Amino acid sequence: MSCKYCFRKDEYENYSNLTFEEMKSFIIDVSNEFPNKRYFEIDLTGAGEPLLRSNEVIELIIFTESISTLERTFKVTFCTNGTLLSRQLINFFKEHDIYFGISIDGDRKVHEKLRGKNSINSYKLIKKNIRKINSKYIGASLTITNKNLNILKSFQSICNKFDSVSMKPVRSDSNDLKISQKSIKQLLKYYDQFFENILNQIKIGNSWVLLSIIRGEDIFGKFIRRIFLNQSVIARCNGGISKFFLDVDRNIYVCGAANISSTYKIGSLNKGLDFDRIHSSLNNQTNRIFCSKCWAKYICGGICMLIKDKYVLNDIVDNDTLCILNKHLINLSISLRLILEERYPSVFKNFVKVCLDNYYR
Ligand code: SF4
Ligand code: SF4
Repeated sequence: MSCKYCFRKDEYENYSNLTFEEMKSFIIDVSNEFPNKRYFEIDLTGAGEPLLRSNEVIELIIFTESISTLERTFKVTFCTNGTLLSRQLINFFKEHDIYFGISIDGDRKVHEKLRGKNSINSYKLIKKNIRKINSKYIGASLTITNKNLNILKSFQSICNKFDSVSMKPVRSDSNDLKISQKSIKQLLKYYDQFFENILNQIKIGNSWVLLSIIRGEDIFGKFIRRIFLNQSVIARCNGGISKFFLDVDRNIYVCGAANISSTYKIGSLNKGLDFDRIHSSLNNQTNRIFCSKCWAKYICGGICMLIKDKYVLNDIVDNDTLCILNKHLINLSISLRLILEERYPSVFKNFVKVCLDNYYR
C-alpha cells in the first residue's frame, strides 16, 4: 500500500534493511546507556509495514524476552496495516503477550481512499483478520484528514473491535489532506458531538468510549489524562529524550519521522548515542518561543519539533489549525472533568485510576 499521509522519504528505499544483528546491537547499546531504566519499549513502527518481515519480528520478540529480567523489561510493540495477520502470527503474539496497533481510517470508502494504490479490498481483509483476534491485544490507530473529519462516525465504525482507539490529526502539507482553516470548524463540531457521546454513554453506565481513548495514544485522550491527573508537561514528546529511532541509513534519530533532516540525528549505529546532540534536542523541545504566550502551553506540550521552525518562521500561532484543535480539546477535557466530578464522582475516580495506569504514554 502507499498511504497518502506517509512521512517516509522515497530515497530511503535505496538503503538495505537493518539486519537482525544490527537491531540487537542497537537495543543492547541503548539499554547499556541507561542502566537504571526498568522498562524498554521496542517499537517497530515508522519504517514500513513490520509484518513484511514477520520472521524477524518473531525473532526479536524471543530475543527481548531472553534479555528481560525481574528488574528490566524489554517489550516489542508495533503498528501494522493488518493485511498480513495470519492465525499463526496472532496466536504467537497472544502467547507472548504482545500488544499491537492496527491502522484503520474509518469506513471502507475512506480507508481505501487514504491507502492509495493496492488498497482495494484491504478493508475487508483487515476486518476479517481482526475477527481472529481477542480485542484485549489490539489498539486502532486512525489518522484524521480532510477526508474523514467525522470522527464520531469513524470511531463508531471501528471501536467495538479494539481495546483502545487512537485518533490523531494528519501531519501533512498536502492541501488535499491537511486540516484546513475551512475544515477545522467542522472538526471542532464533530469533537463536540464526540464529547456529548462520551457523556451520554457514561449516563447510561457505559464507560467504554472514554476508556478506549484514554488507554492509547489518542490526542483527546492524552489531554484528558493530563487534566484528570493535574499533569503539566514541558515538551511535546519524548523524541530524543527517551525515544530513539534507528533508521535504515544506520543513523539514530529522535523518532521515525525525523529522517527529514540531520538536525534530528542523535547518533549512529557505529558510534552510538551522541549525548551533546541529545542535549540540543532537549533544548529544542523545551525552548518553546512559539508557545510562550499560549494559555495552554503546560497542558499541550507544544508543536512537533519537526515542523516548529516553519511555524516560527511564518509566525503562525493563533490561527494554526492544530493549535485551534489542541486548545479546543483541552477545554473539552476541563469541562469533562468538572462534569464528571460533580455528577459522577465515583466514576471519575475510576477514570483517574485508568489514567494513572497509562501515565507513561
Ligand atoms: S496550542 Fe499551539 S501555541 Fe499553544 S501550547 Fe499548543 S502548540 Fe503551543
Ligand atoms: S518529533 Fe514530532 S513526529 Fe516525532 S515523535 Fe515527536 S511529535 Fe511525533
